[in-house]
Amino acid sequence: MKIIVCIKQVPDTSGKVAVNPDGTLNRASMQTITNPDDMNAVEAALKLKDQTGCEVIVVTMGPPPAAGMLREAMAMGADRAVLVSAREFGGSDTYATSQILAAAISTIGVEDDDIVMCGRQAIDGDTAQVGPQIAEKLHLPQITYAADITKEGKTVTVKRMLEDGYMTIKTQTPCLITCIKELNTPRYMNISGIYATYNKPLDVYDYEKLKDHPLIDATTIGLKGSPTNIFKSFTPPQKGVGMMLEGDGKETCEKLAGILADKHII
Ligand SMILES: Cc1cc2nc3c(=O)[nH]c(=O)nc-3n(C[C@H](O)[C@H](O)[C@H](O)COP(=O)(O)OP(=O)(O)OC[C@H]3O[C@@H](n4cnc5c(N)ncnc54)[C@H](O)[C@@H]3O)c2cc1C
Repeated sequence: MKIIVCIKQVPDTSGKVAVNPDGTLNRASMQTITNPDDMNAVEAALKLKDQTGCEVIVVTMGPPPAAGMLREAMAMGADRAVLVSAREFGGSDTYATSQILAAAISTIGVEDDDIVMCGRQAIDGDTAQVGPQIAEKLHLPQITYAADITKEGKTVTVKRMLEDGYMTIKTQTPCLITCIKELNTPRYMNISGIYATYNKPLDVYDYEKLKDHPLIDATTIGLKGSPTNIFKSFTPPQKGVGMMLEGDGKETCEKLAGILADKHII
């Protein structure tokens, strides 16, 4: 059994966020972190590893420095890592990203007992599309918004978090699960884990490695293979200052009703 976890390097928005004159993020000037939901996915995989002894493989598509993030996941306990990186993959939208990641995951190999995990959503692109798209492209059953995961044999039971409650779903492996922060608290790296990463394999899948995969061709990857185009990005104008109404409950309600009536809202 193995668990393949997709993790994405994202800008650390808790620090200073620099924006280029054209409205795009100035990524070069910002620190990067592992996408928070992906840390929960790594932790969920490591918990299953603690219980079953399975193998955990972390995968990212990104520029070469993303290898540092993979090493951190291996220091937490992942067994090996795959960096998917090539100029041809640059500029990919969610469709092309999931196409390339699906090709990489099927090259690693998805067998009967395996699970693919993703975060629910990346804090920069913010679409929550990549996990479900990978599942579709690999023809895997998928369960999103996982707040609890248990596995018995080939049966995986997931408690999904909804807006107003929970839903419990069972599926069979192989499957794909997207994880949310309510699932767990990611563990820290420890010293022995950090040393151990030097002996753990980090493979690079470049264009040469994946180019003959059926999911990969020039029309489905990179900027040219991306059906989404960003025409404009902008910061929305700030809302006007709100109005505070003073007084007791009845008085405030009367004032509010008067204002709404003046504006012909009620
Ligand atoms: C035309 C176009 C060009 C773009 N060019 C660039 C570009 O040059 N550089 C750039 O950084 N972004 C670029 N983007 C944004 C990029 O496409 C998205 O960030 C990416 O497709 C992932 O989508 P998302 O961030 O919404 O992820 P979500 O769908 O929100 O992510 C969900 C989960 O999928 C997994 N996942 C997502 N992306 C990756 C990844 N790369 N590796 C491993 N796991 C992942 C993670 O587990 C993540 O938690 C571009 C977008 C468009 C539309």
